[in-house]
Amino acid sequence: MNSSDQSPAPVFVRRPQFWQVAKRCCQIAGTVDVAFFFIFYAFGSPILAWVNVISVSMYILAYQALARRRNRLAIVLIWTEVIVHATLGTLLIGWDSGFHYYLLMFIPAMFLSMPLRTALAALVFLWGFYVLLDVAMWTVEPLQPISRSALLAVHLFNLSVVFAMFSYLSFFYLKIVNSAQRKLRHMAATDPLTGLFNRRHMIELAERELARFQRSQHPIGVLLLDIDYFKAINDSHGHDIGDKVLVEVANGIKSELRSQDLIARWGGEEFLAVLPDTDLEQARSSAERVRQALMRQQWCFGGKPVAVTISVGVSEFQDGDELKSAINRADKALYRCKDNGRNRVEVCRGTEQSA
Ligand code: GH3
Ligand code: MG
Ligand code: MG
Repeated sequence: MNSSDQSPAPVFVRRPQFWQVAKRCCQIAGTVDVAFFFIFYAFGSPILAWVNVISVSMYILAYQALARRRNRLAIVLIWTEVIVHATLGTLLIGWDSGFHYYLLMFIPAMFLSMPLRTALAALVFLWGFYVLLDVAMWTVEPLQPISRSALLAVHLFNLSVVFAMFSYLSFFYLKIVNSAQRKLRHMAATDPLTGLFNRRHMIELAERELARFQRSQHPIGVLLLDIDYFKAINDSHGHDIGDKVLVEVANGIKSELRSQDLIARWGGEEFLAVLPDTDLEQARSSAERVRQALMRQQWCFGGKPVAVTISVGVSEFQDGDELKSAINRADKALYRCKDNGRNRVEVCRGTEQSA
């Protein structure tokens, strides 16, 4: 059993952005409570006025706890403050004060900050407490009622603050969902080592290009680029240097091709490029440009020179092609490069049948 098996289940989910928002909420709630101090003094409810002084102190402490990453302490302070404040406000001036609305703010916060089981338990507790308070106010009169117009003002104030805070939490939630989606989309489409498209995403993009070619007949070139003797590079310099070579070759290919060209890591040390609006001859010269640029590069890692060259098979989309057939033709040309000594570019025309 390793040490992580023994650690207790986390009470709060590690979600740094949430705790940032919790800090902002402490600032807002603290400011609102300062306003409440004056409001309740003016409305002749000194107990509630002084409760707000305690509340402001608790929010300051909770803010400081969050800044020191003592999230558990901060949450205890915030829950205590909100529950005591909402209960006192409701008992003293009545259900119509709208203080109970603040309790509802916990619902999204719980699901964002806690593991699901803990959030559900907290939800049941909150619901029970809310119902109890509601039922209590059906049976007892407010202990320190204020005038109807003052009650309406407090009610509207509370309602507006809760609306604003809910909107803020929802906006924050939308932001984290969007950013998570962006990250996932990026991860699903990219090769983590080289940052190029991965094979699956490239198939999708290349299929789209093929469909565009079948409609418009604009030529589209296909390059299959393979590092020569890459196994030997790994064997004599180590896998880490091999990885660095892969990254550098990927960068080299990217910088020699155009921004509209699609480039992917197709396999281990093999790359596929699809070049829109590029006929076979232009594709061949692009491939030659990449090969020569990589050949001219000074390949040196940790002071040791490394011999790096590539071979490139070239084809283009043909009428009635499937993606596979165009790539097979490029592969056939690549084989020819390898047979003819490597570090070269070979072209496979549409008339040649793929193997
Ligand atoms: P050829 O010139 O005929 O292409 O020979 P080659 O050695 O380049 O080709 P071969 O297919 O024999 O070897 C490819 C090697 O690439 C084998 C594999 O271990 C290595 N490789 C595949 N993926 C990675 C990777 O992500 N990092 C590293 N460092 N090596 C990898
Ligand atoms: Mg190779
Ligand atoms: Mg290969």
